[in-house]
Amino acid sequence: MALIFVKTLAVIFDFDDTLTPDSTTRFLASRGVDTRSFWQNEVKVLVSDGYDPSMAYLNKILDYSGVDRPLGRVTNEDLAEFGKNNLDSEFYPGLSTLFKDLRTIAAAVSRDISVEFYIVSGGLQTLIEGSSFVRKNFAAVYGCQYSSRVDTGDIHHIKRCVTFTEKTRYLFEINKGIRPEQVIKNQYMVNSDVPLKRRRIPFRNMIYVGDGLTDIPCFSLVQRMGGLAFGVFNPQEQASAKRALMEFLHTDRVISMHAPKYRKSDELGSLLRAAISTLAGRVMLERSEAEGDDA
Ligand SMILES: [Mg+2]
Repeated sequence: MALIFVKTLAVIFDFDDTLTPDSTTRFLASRGVDTRSFWQNEVKVLVSDGYDPSMAYLNKILDYSGVDRPLGRVTNEDLAEFGKNNLDSEFYPGLSTLFKDLRTIAAAVSRDISVEFYIVSGGLQTLIEGSSFVRKNFAAVYGCQYSSRVDTGDIHHIKRCVTFTEKTRYLFEINKGIRPEQVIKNQYMVNSDVPLKRRRIPFRNMIYVGDGLTDIPCFSLVQRMGGLAFGVFNPQEQASAKRALMEFLHTDRVISMHAPKYRKSDELGSLLRAAISTLAGRVMLERSEAEGDDA
């Protein structure tokens, strides 16, 4: 019997505060919005009223957009343009080398093993994809989206909202090998019944890196299914450190927590390199065991 060997490893990142400082906040600030008040007052009021946090901020941006409103007119092109001009210079240190190194490490274990990178974010997908660094390095980006008004091009309705449990949906799409282009034609495709052995990237071949409460379902899913989850936090911020301890480490949702630095000499950078080597080694071991069974 011919066995299917899975040869792709996936490293999946949250975006804001994991790869770069919060991009939505930077966009709002670029238009002169008081971002502290936006998040701490305006969005918080909606959340206290029962809004999903992602829906709350997406709606608030719509309220703020338009002539004579705090953000002025906003189009999807504006969001992409902001991403193009402002993201590439702000990524946390070591990322460009990290991607290259992880590919090299996996290929050194076996030339058949490749590594793919994904972003699953509660931020604005159009803004994130404006970055040429993102377009060059990531196989897909999943994030919140707005539709555009046909007549003016202004952002109009919330087209896609990626909230915390929704993030796991995209892990399943990656797991089953479903591409975003296919999902546009069939939104329910993620529910398709794909036998475990035929899934393109098993969860145990995934590494998830994130920083926030919205990442908890992904941390739990990936860890429970045999993959690896790492958390990042900002050691300079007390709230971030406390959350890291109480929500992530204390509850065993991640293996460890680190500052978002990805050079070979940084904690997280070196752990990710070791993690890819471990996962690639395990793929080869499983392959030789299966071949032994098959003989
Ligand atoms: Mg984040």
